[in-house]
Amino acid sequence: MKITADGMKQFGNSELLCCPQCKNMVNMQVLKSSSGFGVFNVSLVDYQVELFTICPACGSIFAVDKSRSKEAGHSKSNKVNTISEAHLTFVKRINLNG
Ligand SMILES: [Zn+2]
Repeated sequence: MKITADGMKQFGNSELLCCPQCKNMVNMQVLKSSSGFGVFNVSLVDYQVELFTICPACGSIFAVDKSRSKEAGHSKSNKVNTISEAHLTFVKRINLNG
């Protein structure tokens, strides 16, 4: 799966975690906003976060907790593996198959 969107870049993959929506154990794709505006018709302003995760199983997008997002998003060391389902807020579901 490869997701590209204007203003977004792939930041890494999470550890195996339980998707709050579909309950599958997945490695979520972590996306970082470089524009701060939005992706997939989601307004980042509402969430005030920089990192999003996408469940590859069900296509749900989650906003990463602001504090966690700040730590993981700004560190040079890869801290996306510190993201867990407790840090995720469901945003919306997208259709991964177009
Ligand atoms: Zn899922």
